[in-house]
Amino acid sequence: MTNIIKPQVTLLSYTPEPEKVVAAAARLCYSKKNGNELMEDFTSAQVEEFLKKLVDLGHESPFEHASFCFSVDGISRACSHQLVRHRVGCSYSQKSQRYVKETGFSCIEPNSIALKPEADKLFRETIDKVQEAYDALLALGVPAEDARFLLPNAASTSLVVTMNARSLIHFFELRCCTRAQWEIRFIAKEMLRQVKEVAPLLFAKAGAPCLKNGFCPEGKMSCGIAPTIEELRGF
Ligand SMILES: Cc1cc2nc3c(=O)[nH]c(=O)nc-3n(C[C@H](O)[C@H](O)[C@H](O)COP(=O)(O)OP(=O)(O)OC[C@H]3O[C@@H](n4cnc5c(N)ncnc54)[C@H](O)[C@@H]3O)c2cc1C
Repeated sequence: MTNIIKPQVTLLSYTPEPEKVVAAAARLCYSKKNGNELMEDFTSAQVEEFLKKLVDLGHESPFEHASFCFSVDGISRACSHQLVRHRVGCSYSQKSQRYVKETGFSCIEPNSIALKPEADKLFRETIDKVQEAYDALLALGVPAEDARFLLPNAASTSLVVTMNARSLIHFFELRCCTRAQWEIRFIAKEMLRQVKEVAPLLFAKAGAPCLKNGFCPEGKMSCGIAPTIEELRGF
């Protein structure tokens, strides 16, 4: 019986006082005080004022000092493949299909399939057949690392993902945009919602580039929500 699940994101942990740490690191460059002294001295009003300046100036390297760790669960292998393409300032641990047997594996079903009864039936029947064949290979003594060659892109996976704030902002620019695939866009938006709850100043302008800059950098691929640079320049 096909087990369909929905993606889930949980912020597991993050750098304590992430906004103060970033502000102190940035202030250090221009101060006689050390990082420890700045952490003690900075008031929340000063942190806010300083971070607003940093965000406006696009002075991003101090943002690398704050990290955020998520549990990302119930996403498809198609989605995780896109997620792990983000290399810089990002760490991943992913459930192994070699060591964890996928008996009764769960799947992510796109709405474009789920909402069409005929397509939904075909999807579920095919997944059930794959599950049967996978189990049969295991029963024949095939190791899980080889039986997994049958598993579809729809098979769900779990990861623990850690990104620093600078990498997250870059990730949000690419993956909150309507051009990104729906599943990774859902993950990105959920991650953004959760980091904004704990560090609203760091992520004040984070999201799709049109929200940040007021124009779309995607040219002919633009979704049309915001004007492209070409449209703004009138050519
Ligand atoms: C809408 C969309 C469609 C996509 N389609 C495809 C596709 O069809 N095929 C495909 O293969 N990928 C595709 N991708 C993935 C994309 O090409 C990137 O691999 C992914 O978004 C990670 O981005 P990044 O390299 O900027 O991030 P990171 O790996 O985190 O890198 C961050 C930044 O560091 C710098 N950097 C990192 N590594 C290097 C390096 N080796 N040399 C120089 N500078 C470096 C770059 O400035 C880069 O932007 C797509 C992504 C999106 C958002």
